[in-house]
Amino acid sequence: MKKESILYSVTPFDPAGHRLKVRLTIQAPDPRGQELTLPAWIPGSYLIRDFSRQVETITAHSGNQTVAIKKTGNHTWLCAPCPGPLVLDYSVYAWDLSVRGAHVDESHAFFNGTSVFLGVIGQTQQPCHVEICPPPHTQSWKVYTSLPEAQGHTKAASRHGFGMYLAPNYDALIDHPFELGTPQVVSFTAHGALHEMVFTGVAPNLDLDRIAADTQKICAAQITLFEPETQAVPFLDSSDRYVFMTMITGDGYGGLEHRASTALVASRHDLPALGLTNAGEGYQTFLGLVSHEYFHTWNVKRIKPASFAPYDLSRENHTQLLWVFEGFTSYYDDLMLLRSGVITEADYLRLIGKVISNVQRTAGRLKQSVADSSYDAWTRYYKQDENSPNALVSYYTKGSLVAMGLDLVIRQASAGARSLDDVMRLLWQRYGRDFYRGLGSGVPEDTMPALVQEATGIDVADFIARYAYGCEDVPLESLLAEQGIALTWKPLPAPVTLDARLRTSNGSTSLATVYEGGAAHMAGLSAGDTLVAINGLQVTDGTSLERLLRAYQPGSSITMHVFRRDELRAFELILNAPAATECTLARVA
Ligand SMILES: [Zn+2]
Repeated sequence: MKKESILYSVTPFDPAGHRLKVRLTIQAPDPRGQELTLPAWIPGSYLIRDFSRQVETITAHSGNQTVAIKKTGNHTWLCAPCPGPLVLDYSVYAWDLSVRGAHVDESHAFFNGTSVFLGVIGQTQQPCHVEICPPPHTQSWKVYTSLPEAQGHTKAASRHGFGMYLAPNYDALIDHPFELGTPQVVSFTAHGALHEMVFTGVAPNLDLDRIAADTQKICAAQITLFEPETQAVPFLDSSDRYVFMTMITGDGYGGLEHRASTALVASRHDLPALGLTNAGEGYQTFLGLVSHEYFHTWNVKRIKPASFAPYDLSRENHTQLLWVFEGFTSYYDDLMLLRSGVITEADYLRLIGKVISNVQRTAGRLKQSVADSSYDAWTRYYKQDENSPNALVSYYTKGSLVAMGLDLVIRQASAGARSLDDVMRLLWQRYGRDFYRGLGSGVPEDTMPALVQEATGIDVADFIARYAYGCEDVPLESLLAEQGIALTWKPLPAPVTLDARLRTSNGSTSLATVYEGGAAHMAGLSAGDTLVAINGLQVTDGTSLERLLRAYQPGSSITMHVFRRDELRAFELILNAPAATECTLARVA
């Protein structure tokens, strides 16, 4: 098929109304009638999102003739048979300030292809040209993306310019998000490869050089982990650069991985300002996020579960292996901060202590394995409710503890000769390195025990069965002790507790989660109950509750008045000593 068989033209034509205008030209439409589809979900975020609901208007024509177009499903359209070229014009509402969607206003435009590019069914392997057009209200915007410019094309974009970009197929097209605007930008090279960091949003006096220097170390360390001999950079199969796109907000946090870029949302309070030498825990959180998404360049963007190779974007894709793809990535994200020297060992141990404490706090870890949590990500982890801490385990946090446990078991059984790094390298060599060169297959669901044994010589089948496919707690206390690290539990400072998570809003405090088996549960209190009084004294917020509870000891009985809906109810409650404890890790002198 000839050049430009699929051409998209995208314009942020109505910034005030948050609308993108898209023209899709198909040179050779299906003579039986062309079907089109928009993804139901975006890879990396395992929830059906129905991006098609943001398509506001859509028309089709061929030459001077209007072509009939109708919906044939939630995410699909069908055009009447017509000669080529078939041209579709549609508008997309873009007002989702998340890493998953599209967001347009007068200051910038960000979009994922999953929100914007209709897939041409039957032609998804065709190259896709994308012309990015400027908004009507300003000439000052630039274009940031890892999607390569269409080299040699008459309208080819210059670097960061408007004009033509080119994806080899639809799968690539929707894996290179775009940021248009006037962001703060810094770049660096790691093992010879260009990396750009793009910051959109208000952040005065941002210390870009410091962020770039720290990120450079993290990237270089990860490249060395996967390719210790060649230091080969993974994303050159898709782009000449890697792009970190960060939207800065007041208190945002999140990221989504792509094959040669990542979209991040970060709090401006987590980013270092010029002149600040100690940027603290918030900055470590940001660097941890950067490290996490970059690690996905290997682990999940190229090493993938078999059910993601290829993705079926019309429905849920189930795998029991997110504990490998998100859990291992969550283990390595902080570990790479330590290995690259951007945090100290004491910082690292503090971060790990927090993760262990968080996992331990949820009763759900004893009901659901990380393998099952992976499978049910679509309906449970991504659809959390008031009972989730009692019912679910996170394949991120517990998955990272399984990874740490595996790493320690392998190191100890091999007297330090092997580690989880060897497992990651074998996964990379077998499944990931050549994935986008057309040679990739996904990781089979049941391969991990054998693969770890092949990579390290250590039999971990029982470990994986118990801690990844079973619900047992990873025995980190003994494994860390072997490394000279003491894990200790200390009680929370409060003498008594309701065993519930609180939510305060508009001057009233309610129960957000009632922990299973705790004082509130045993008394009959429920999530959603609004606290009114303890033994006749008013509860206004979390602080007043804490003050009132100070008068009591574990075992004390109190009368608690609450509103359940609009009904005043009284419950007799026997207070507990805090069951939740905090874990600290320290190197033994
Ligand atoms: Zn992740």
